Amino acid sequence: MMKYNCSLCLSETDNLFFTDRNRHYISCDHCGLIFVPQDFWLNAVEEKAVYDLHENSPHDQGYRNFLSRLTTPLSEKLKPQQKGLDFGCGPGPALPTLLEEQGHQVDRFDLHYHNDPTIFGNRYDFICATEVLEHLQAPNSEFTKLFSILKPGGWLGIMTKLVIDRQAFSKWHYIRDLTHICFYSHGTFEYLAHRFNAELNVVANDVILLRKK
Ligand SMILES: [Zn+2]
Repeated sequence: MMKYNCSLCLSETDNLFFTDRNRHYISCDHCGLIFVPQDFWLNAVEEKAVYDLHENSPHDQGYRNFLSRLTTPLSEKLKPQQKGLDFGCGPGPALPTLLEEQGHQVDRFDLHYHNDPTIFGNRYDFICATEVLEHLQAPNSEFTKLFSILKPGGWLGIMTKLVIDRQAFSKWHYIRDLTHICFYSHGTFEYLAHRFNAELNVVANDVILLRKK
C-alpha cells in the first residue's frame, strides 16, 4: 500500500478507508479527513463541466432555504453591517444576496468563476464556505489562508456533509460526485478548531460555525 500525506494535516497515512469502481479513499488517523489521492482527481476542464451543471440561482426558493440553514444562525452572531467573503461562491450570487439583504457586505471568490486573488489582502468579519470544502485539493493551505484573513472574533461558516462511518460512506451519494475529494467528520472540525484556535459550534449535521479566538 502506498503512503500518502493527508491533504489537511500532512500526517503520513496508508489507511485505505474505502474503494469503489472509480476511486480510492484514504483516511487520516490524526485529523479524521478522508481524501481521494491526486491520481483520481478530474482535470480542471472536467471539473468545470460538472460545476456548470449546478443551478444555484438566488431566485430559487429551495436553494435560498438550503443556504438559510447557514445564513440564519450566522446572521444571529454578526453585528450589523459586517464585511464578509463567500469563498467558493460558484457562478451565482445566491449566498451574498441573502446576507446583503440583511445589510452586510460580501466579497466573492471562486477558483473557476470569480478568481480574484486580491481579496486575500483583505480582512473579514465572516467567511462562508458552503458546499466547497469537499472540493479542495489543498485544504491545509486553504484553511491556513482563510483563518489568516479572518479577524479575531470573526466567524467561518461552513456547510459540508459529514462522514458518519464506513457503512454509511459506502452507500453515500456524496462520494459519487467525482469533484468531491475531501470528506470531513465531526472530529476533523475539532482538529481544525484546535489548530486554528477557534471555538467550534455545530449548528446542524452539515452546518458548522468556527469562531476565531
Ligand atoms: Zn490528517
